[in-house]
Amino acid sequence: MMISTTMNGKLNDQVTAEFGAAHAYLAMACLLDNMSLKVLAGRFFKQYSEELEHAMRIVRYVLEVGGTVALDGVSKPKKDYKGVEDIVATALQNEKDITAKINDLVALADKEKDYATRSFLQWFIDEQVEEVSTMAELLNLVKLAGNNVLQVEAVVRHQMLAEKS
Ligand code: MG
Repeated sequence: MMISTTMNGKLNDQVTAEFGAAHAYLAMACLLDNMSLKVLAGRFFKQYSEELEHAMRIVRYVLEVGGTVALDGVSKPKKDYKGVEDIVATALQNEKDITAKINDLVALADKEKDYATRSFLQWFIDEQVEEVSTMAELLNLVKLAGNNVLQVEAVVRHQMLAEKS
């Protein structure tokens, strides 16, 4: 095995955290869909798929370095939200929590002089900058729109179309 037992355990914890993030996004997407906010829902369904991919990236790495993948249960997603702003604010906080976990993994890799894992984690560091930045921007947008959530729908629709082209 090319990683320490401690690192293997922490990477497994991160797999659980990424699946947990996916689970939370899926729950949020369904709530937004129920509120007829189909565009925002679409954005969160997309986040759900991305989180699954994050988890799988780590799974593949652990297997590649000869580690053991031990799956754990994900925590129950929150479902009592006060509204769209609360949903987006929670998503932002979740992304910040994930960033903190990635940083802890990086610190461990540095401490163990595990440069392979340190290199692997760089992608996640960059990804989290983007995730936190875009979610913070979405939260600002929701706050700006106030009661007019349909304006958020229009802007997000525009953004998503721009990403595709
Ligand atoms: Mg993630």
